[in-house]
Amino acid sequence: MDNNYYNNDYNSQRPRRKVTRDTFRKRQLAAVCVISLILLIIIVAFAKACSHNSVSKKGDTKANKKAVVTTTTTADPAVTTAPPVTTATVTEPTTPDPNDTNSFQLDKYTIYVDVGSDELPYAFVQQYPDGSTEADEVWKSDNEAIATVDQYGHITGVSPGECYVILSSAKDPTKEAYVKVVVADSSGAQTATTAEGATTAEGATAAEGSETATTLSSNTQPQSSVTEASAPPVINDPALHYEHIGDQPVLIVNKTYAMNPADEPGGLESTTAAQFDKLCAAAAADGLTLWNASGYRSYSTQETIYNNYVSMSGQATADTFSARPGHSEHETGLAIDVNDPSDNFNNTKEAAWLAEHCYDYGFILRYPQGKQDITGYKYESWHIRYVGTAVSKEIQKSGKTLEEYFGITSQYQ
Ligand SMILES: [Zn+2]
Repeated sequence: MDNNYYNNDYNSQRPRRKVTRDTFRKRQLAAVCVISLILLIIIVAFAKACSHNSVSKKGDTKANKKAVVTTTTTADPAVTTAPPVTTATVTEPTTPDPNDTNSFQLDKYTIYVDVGSDELPYAFVQQYPDGSTEADEVWKSDNEAIATVDQYGHITGVSPGECYVILSSAKDPTKEAYVKVVVADSSGAQTATTAEGATTAEGATAAEGSETATTLSSNTQPQSSVTEASAPPVINDPALHYEHIGDQPVLIVNKTYAMNPADEPGGLESTTAAQFDKLCAAAAADGLTLWNASGYRSYSTQETIYNNYVSMSGQATADTFSARPGHSEHETGLAIDVNDPSDNFNNTKEAAWLAEHCYDYGFILRYPQGKQDITGYKYESWHIRYVGTAVSKEIQKSGKTLEEYFGITSQYQ
C-alpha cells in the first residue's frame, strides 16, 4: 500500500518534472538574452561617455584614460579642480554637464543671527562640486566662540561678532564655500560687529604703520562703498620674500619664492576675507553673483593635489597649471579662486566684472593673459590675490604683473 502509493506519486510527478526542465531551459535562454542586452547597453553608454569626454577635453587623452571628469587643461596653479580620484571611474561613468561649475553654490553668503535665537538659519546648497552630494557636506565654524554649526549647516549664534562658517566636501576638501556669519545680541544691536572690524584693521595697520586712519574709517563705512584698504599684516619671517611699492610690502609667492608652511594662516586672511565680501556685495549690486570657490589651502592639501596632477599628466605639464607644495599663493590665505576655476569662466560677464573691479577692493588679477612665461602660469581669469588698494591700484595703472613690476622671476630653482 505504502509502496504503491509512493510509486503512483512518483509516476504522477514525472511529466511535471519534464515540463519544469523545459521551462527552466527557456528561462535560462531568456536570462542570457537579458544579460547580453544589458551588457550591450553598458558598452554603448560607456563608448558614448568616452567620445563626449574627448571632445570636451580638447583631446586630453590622459584624462580620458582615467575616465575622470576634471578640467585638467584649465586648472589653477593652486589647483581647485578635483584631483583625479580613481574611484570616480567606477562610481561616475557618465560625463557631467560641461556647464557644471564644479563647485559649491549657495543661496546666500552672509547670514545674520541673534545670540541664543531658536531660529537656526542656514545657507541652502544650490549646487555641489562634481562627485559630491548632500552626504559629503562638512560644515565647520572658524570661531566657535561666536557661532557654531551642526552637520546640516544650521547655525547658532554664541556671542556677538563675525565669523565664517565653512562648507567643504568630504570627497574633495579643496572644494569650499564660505558663509559670513554676523551674530548680534538679542536686542539686535551689532556693536560687537563694529568692534570686530576695528580690531582687524588695527591688526593690519600695526604691521603697516602708515594707514591707521584710512583703514579704520574704511572698515566702518558701508560694505558696498569702494574705499582704501591696507595690505595684509606682514609676517615677520626672513624665509619669506617681500617686495615693496613705496612703504607698501608685498609678499611674493611664486615658483621662485616659497611660502613657509610654518607661516600658513590656516584660513583666509581676515582683511582679505572682509574685502572679498565687499567685492561680492558690489558685484551683487550690479546683478552678478561672485563667490569664493577656493581660498586658503594648506601645504599638505597642495601636495596631494600636485602629486595627483603629476601622476596624471607628468611633471612638466602639471607645472604649467599646478603649483608645487610650498609655492601656491593659496597657502598664504591671500588668494581666492572666484566662481568657476576653469577656462569656462573666461569671457563670462562675471570674469569681465572681476577684471575691471577687483583692483578697487585691493585685489589683482594674478595670472593675466599672455604672461605665462613671466608668471609661470597660464591665464587664469578666476584667480585674484589680495595686496591692499595702494598696491592694487599701482599695479593696475602699470599694466604689469607682479613679476614684471618688481623685475623678479617665477622659476623653480
Ligand atoms: Zn587659484
